[in-house]
Amino acid sequence: MSYTVTPIGYVRSCFKEKFAIPRQPLLAPAAQGCIELLPPYDQADAIAGLEDISHIWVIFLFHKTLEDTPRLKVRPPRLGGNKSIGVFASRATHRPNGIGQSAVRLERAEPGRLWISGIDLLDGTPVLDIKPYVPYADSLSMAHNAIADSAPTLITVSWQPNALQQAEQHAQRLQQPLIELIEQCLAQDPRPAYQQPTPERMYGVQFYDVQVRWRYLTLEQIEVIEVCLA
Ligand code: SAM
Repeated sequence: MSYTVTPIGYVRSCFKEKFAIPRQPLLAPAAQGCIELLPPYDQADAIAGLEDISHIWVIFLFHKTLEDTPRLKVRPPRLGGNKSIGVFASRATHRPNGIGQSAVRLERAEPGRLWISGIDLLDGTPVLDIKPYVPYADSLSMAHNAIADSAPTLITVSWQPNALQQAEQHAQRLQQPLIELIEQCLAQDPRPAYQQPTPERMYGVQFYDVQVRWRYLTLEQIEVIEVCLA
């Protein structure tokens, strides 16, 4: 038997490509976006009560990594990408039915639009459902997970002076916390763990409509080189 699900909306996100998106929500509080709700959920009735709620669960489709062949084991980046574990022990994007879930901060709700932050969602992500985060049920003080027991260790992010100036100008133009976004995302060390970067190797990603370029001075230190229009 199979079932059909239909998106209730789509995410508009600062993240235009998968690379450098934090691996879980709330790791980059400056990561902002909006869920554009589709009819009939774009009406005031559908969001009544959300004004009393600080965080929501976004249930979504990993639409860029959907696959026909089931994977029983995955190689999570968290384990360096070279150790495999069962798909049900991981939050990897390759999974049965391609369903993801993220608890994010709800900044503001208006009919047809939910403004959210701390997101780990790609622009264009189809949203299947939204539920309130319920602290007493969803925050489990006795829970443990030896594979991912704490947030990833952060690395240092420094700026070339002209790159910082460029970022300040784009932040002002976009009216978005671009500098914080860049620092919070790059501090997560986005490179695949198997790559041993040299200071000559450039990395880049698009946030909003700007291209951010950086290099690794050491394994623990990133330097932002350029922030320019994509
Ligand atoms: N919090 C969610 C979960 O646990 O189900 C997602 C975790 S998953 C490890 C996070 C990664 O999914 C991000 O780093 C990003 O690269 C990727 N991602 C986000 N939106 C996506 C989409 N629509 N399609 C495919 N990959 C996506």
